[in-house]
Amino acid sequence: MTSNLPSFESEFSFRTRQRDIETIGESDFEFFVVGGGINGSGTASLLAQNGRKVLLVDRNDFASGTSSGSSKLIHGGLRYLANFEFREVKRLLSERNYLLTHTEIVKPLLFDVVVDEYSWKKISLRSGLTIYNLLSGRIKLPRYHRNSGTFPEHVKGYFTYEDSMTDDSLLVISNVVTAHSHGAICLNYVEPLEIWEENGKWHAILKDFISGRTLQISTKFIVNAAGPWVTKIPGIDKAGNLSNLLLSKGIHIVVDSSLFPGKNAVVFRSPIDRRQMFIIPRGEVIHIGTTDTFTSSPDDWKITEEDIEYIISSARSIIPELGRKDIIESFAGIRPLFGSGSDPGKVTRKSSVIMNKNVVSILGGKITDYRLTAQSVARIINKCLPRNKRLTFKGLPTIDYRRNNSDAIIQAVFNECALNEEDILRRRIGARLYTKDGGKSLESHVKEKVKGLLLANKN
Ligand SMILES: Cc1cc2nc3c(=O)[nH]c(=O)nc-3n(C[C@H](O)[C@H](O)[C@H](O)COP(=O)(O)OP(=O)(O)OC[C@H]3O[C@@H](n4cnc5c(N)ncnc54)[C@H](O)[C@@H]3O)c2cc1C
Repeated sequence: MTSNLPSFESEFSFRTRQRDIETIGESDFEFFVVGGGINGSGTASLLAQNGRKVLLVDRNDFASGTSSGSSKLIHGGLRYLANFEFREVKRLLSERNYLLTHTEIVKPLLFDVVVDEYSWKKISLRSGLTIYNLLSGRIKLPRYHRNSGTFPEHVKGYFTYEDSMTDDSLLVISNVVTAHSHGAICLNYVEPLEIWEENGKWHAILKDFISGRTLQISTKFIVNAAGPWVTKIPGIDKAGNLSNLLLSKGIHIVVDSSLFPGKNAVVFRSPIDRRQMFIIPRGEVIHIGTTDTFTSSPDDWKITEEDIEYIISSARSIIPELGRKDIIESFAGIRPLFGSGSDPGKVTRKSSVIMNKNVVSILGGKITDYRLTAQSVARIINKCLPRNKRLTFKGLPTIDYRRNNSDAIIQAVFNECALNEEDILRRRIGARLYTKDGGKSLESHVKEKVKGLLLANKN
């Protein structure tokens, strides 16, 4: 059963985790990163690739927050053109182009933007898409197709353009594994209970939810990458003015792909309020989303009846027979936005990094620009470092991890530090979000196998 286990040197598992927990007590780090979503993992990776002493913790699994609840698009955001955010779209598109050529986790995807009574006008779409292509560095006119039956009759036609998608959880996990391979200690299921400043250093008491142990560490810098929980980290919740944080919930539903046979993703506007929405093919299933509603709590992950009703009623303009019975799964995320405005759709998605007393807080941003966010963190930290100790960030962080084991469960447990079946089903192999039965048929097999591997390979 365990014949194709990795060698201990390349391992990142419950065993290396236990070793790290046993040895870090009283350790002095240069960087303590709180939050293992895309921003925390990308930043930890950049810092570790600079050879620095880094500790990354997440109180749940890596990628268990908003970074596994996104639309999973790596894009410039066509919609932001309507807000005249040309510079931001260009920045995001250049990052999209970089990721498309530097990692296999980001893949090209064609999108059909429908023209119907709810959409932007055909002429606006043609010019918007032309600008989008130009901002991405391509001189390419968008192609218009008449609707010849792919869409319901009210759709007159559609423009096709190129963008890209990813597996957001895998992108996070790959950054964590890369950080670990460059020497960072990365611990899931570990939470800081207390953080305080003393004698020019930060100190923290950490709780390991797996062993029940508490640990104490010290550090020079803290990176608060807790996403929507950025103002809730004890001891550093008031480090810098984070009062412009706005939280906006977005949900998606997962349905069988046979409901919509088109191969491309679809961009349409909701007949209810003319918000832009997506239908995204993901193999056996399609994802439909999303909503954008303010919430006051980072713990408000509940998917309400209204959310579901809104998505279904909106998507019926493209898939008329769609009903509640078709929903296999649904998932939510909470956008940690940093800006102002009464319409969540108009609040900027730009990332901000704020430094106060050696604590850097990350707010806003997208999965797409996580590398640029990590670079901004490095840039702001460099202001406090002597010239010869400054961080380099050109081209960083890279992703130095590629799956190579034919057994996905062994890979997840021994190379990606999955500790239980939900870590695997939801955030390593994606069965919950990318299969027709929401991973149900795999549940008992994965559970038994993980249990067996953990028991058989205890140190
Ligand atoms: C519906 C929706 C769709 C989106 N679609 C896209 C898209 O298509 N493309 C795109 O580029 N962006 C998209 N985004 C934006 C993107 O998902 C987020 O900006 C990004 O994931 C935020 O990442 P993060 O690392 O800051 O936060 P998170 O992913 O939430 O990470 C924060 C982590 O901190 C941990 N944490 C919290 N409190 C503590 C604590 N006390 N101790 C330790 N750890 C803690 C959490 O467990 C969590 O894992 C979307 C967002 C939403 C909501």
